[in-house]
Amino acid sequence: MKRAVKLLLGGKALEVEANGHLLRSARCELRVPEVIRLKNFVRVPYKEVSFCRKNVLLRDGGVCQYCGREFRFEDLTVDHVVPLSRGGADQWNNVVAACKDCNRKKGNQLPDEAGMMLLRRPGAPRSATFLQVARHHGRSRDVWKKYLFYES
Ligand SMILES: [Zn+2]
Repeated sequence: MKRAVKLLLGGKALEVEANGHLLRSARCELRVPEVIRLKNFVRVPYKEVSFCRKNVLLRDGGVCQYCGREFRFEDLTVDHVVPLSRGGADQWNNVVAACKDCNRKKGNQLPDEAGMMLLRRPGAPRSATFLQVARHHGRSRDVWKKYLFYES
């Protein structure tokens, strides 16, 4: 929000939607922006998504990659498809979000051995992932939905 206000005051962005609150200072009053539009297109620099638990869960959308059910992040684990103890790597293409039940059931086995199937083959998130991340964070904000490509 701070950044959005700076961009508005600097004339770099236009307000699209406000949330009904006001910011007051000695000199001015500003509606608190909820959605802004940059006046100029800004290329988002390519940045590799860092490899960590939270980003693995975000990449998989909070969905267990074995049973397909959605969980809160605290109820998910990061499963190594090929277990570390069997030479699996600690890398994007070998980790998936898994619920505790599925992780327990799979144990130290390969998916095949456990009779489990992955919803999709894991990989490093592409640049489009930042949109996915934004969608995940934005899904509780009604006003953002139409900008984050949710169906109404
Ligand atoms: Zn599961």
